[in-house]
Amino acid sequence: MFTVDKYIYILKYILSQMAAVGTWSFSRPAVERMSCMLLAGQNATDVVETAMAEVEDDADTGRHIVGRGGYPNCKGVVECDAAIMEGVPGRFGAVAALRGIAQPCRVARKVMEKSPHSLLVGDGAEAFAQDLGFTSEANDNMLSHHTATAYREFLEKNKPVSGGHDTIGLIALDLSGNTTVGVSTSGAPFKSPGRVGDSPLPGCGLYADNTVGAAAATGDGDKIMCYCPSFHVVQLMKQGSSPSEACHAVLADMQRRIGDDKCFDIGLISLNMKGEVGAASSVEFPYTFWNQGMDSVEELINQPKSLNV
Ligand code: ASP
Repeated sequence: MFTVDKYIYILKYILSQMAAVGTWSFSRPAVERMSCMLLAGQNATDVVETAMAEVEDDADTGRHIVGRGGYPNCKGVVECDAAIMEGVPGRFGAVAALRGIAQPCRVARKVMEKSPHSLLVGDGAEAFAQDLGFTSEANDNMLSHHTATAYREFLEKNKPVSGGHDTIGLIALDLSGNTTVGVSTSGAPFKSPGRVGDSPLPGCGLYADNTVGAAAATGDGDKIMCYCPSFHVVQLMKQGSSPSEACHAVLADMQRRIGDDKCFDIGLISLNMKGEVGAASSVEFPYTFWNQGMDSVEELINQPKSLNV
């Protein structure tokens, strides 16, 4: 027999455009998890936080520059940046240069919900996390075999890490029409202690507005933070652009200003309130996507476009 709750769910389901998107191929399990949670009626923030935490805590995905198993700084210490933003005005929390906590995006959510502040860094962020019951782990637990070996090679042979930038960015749009975006990264391998990238900075690594949609960035955070691309994407969507048009217009604007051939590594994803996705990038950029019209999560690949073509 149908209960009132079931009727409400069906009505909301018919009216909603639930969707989830994540940066890079390794976000696929997280986006699959998000699709299941969204279909079960969970809210966008719980969905993003839970899916993110699973990736952050997995030492294997650490080599993608996320959470446990991430690359350490030049002193051998893993320092993570993470943030979460809801589409509701003023709902943002972030941590930066956070040590010893394997699920930094969960701490970012607590900053959003329990702190009078919006961004906590370093020792202060760790103390805040401990006060709220998070366990601070020894740095050895934060390294994986892979990243500990890479760090030894960096010290002995000055060998850099091959491959590009990663960072997981996840955006969810839930049954009630709320959007939330989260990002998490251990940042540039062998960075200076205390270095903070674009990820925990609102408008740079992420932005959300429930009247429009949300966006997230990945790539060279030292450069990305100079352009506020996530805010820019959301503003263009507000003026009527589709997610794809907005991402491409923001990237083209940056490329024009920088000089097309000098553009740094960047990937942008965005999702609007219709559950439509878009991406643009200066490098080959896989991302994973699901919306409620799809049977399963799909991997899409954005190829970089040159302004000179
Ligand atoms: N944007 C991140 C940072 O610079 C890293 C990345 O996306 O690879 O910290």
